Amino acid sequence: MAKVRRIREVNKSRATVEGAGVHLHRAIGWGRPEQYDPFLLLDDFRSDEPEQYKRGFPWHPHRGMETITYVLRGEVAHGDSLGNSGSIAPGDVQWMTAGSGIIHQEMPKGDSGGAMHGFQLWANLPAASKMMEPRYRGIQSEEIPIVAADGGTVIKVVAGSVAGITGPVRDIVTQPEYLDVTVAAGQTFTHPTPLGHTAFAYVIGGKGVFGEKEAPDGHNAGADGDVDVEPDGLIGDRHLVLFADGEVVSVVADAEPVRFLLISGKPIREPIAWQGPIVMNTEAELRHAFAELENGTFIKNRRA
Ligand code: FE
Repeated sequence: MAKVRRIREVNKSRATVEGAGVHLHRAIGWGRPEQYDPFLLLDDFRSDEPEQYKRGFPWHPHRGMETITYVLRGEVAHGDSLGNSGSIAPGDVQWMTAGSGIIHQEMPKGDSGGAMHGFQLWANLPAASKMMEPRYRGIQSEEIPIVAADGGTVIKVVAGSVAGITGPVRDIVTQPEYLDVTVAAGQTFTHPTPLGHTAFAYVIGGKGVFGEKEAPDGHNAGADGDVDVEPDGLIGDRHLVLFADGEVVSVVADAEPVRFLLISGKPIREPIAWQGPIVMNTEAELRHAFAELENGTFIKNRRA
């Protein structure tokens, strides 16, 4: 039988302020980045209060990494040094590979009710790809396949494969899988994940048991040691579950459906030198990047 991934750690996302004053919840990006390799950061910018997000993320650079933005409600207006501009609408994904460098802006615009719900993931690039040509992919909601599984479970496949259906984002060096999963009430969801890949789930609605099924004594049999789960083993909204290694992820929904982002990728296992929006391997490369920003040679592929 395939080895079910146990829980390595559960963390509640923490409130912080980013950009020009955007109040958000950071799920990844506090601790040692090696722990989530190849992922660096996960920000949850769900808010129903325009005051909390409208100042946005004005023009800023990125190098050596990728940003992946997924919008559920509201829109994010964007523009970049590659000449792209537009809007990330509900259900859309922007997969932006900064590579050698881009300068962009990301400005959240809520919907008519003031709601702006979305997530931004940062994935690292290996040394061999850090200075690759920047690449931008705007993926529309309708391009993302939806897989209907047993019992009413629904999976949106942004990257990776479910039941032979492959998502639109391919050819990324860290072989990421990015799924938006809603497990129907009382149902069990299992999904294969390559052995050795980092895998985590970020809960965005409902509650569920992650890892192996609940033990008869009421404790979560999937939990290794001390983790932040309720006594009944349930994990809810804004909690991130980092899985230990294994071949299969298993999630059981509670009396209500549980919705989560299931993300995995191949670890890079290289030194990480990270300052703000620039992620390199060494301090010297960081200094070089910031010097290039100063002297105007940062952007290598300006189209506009
Ligand atoms: Fe950015």
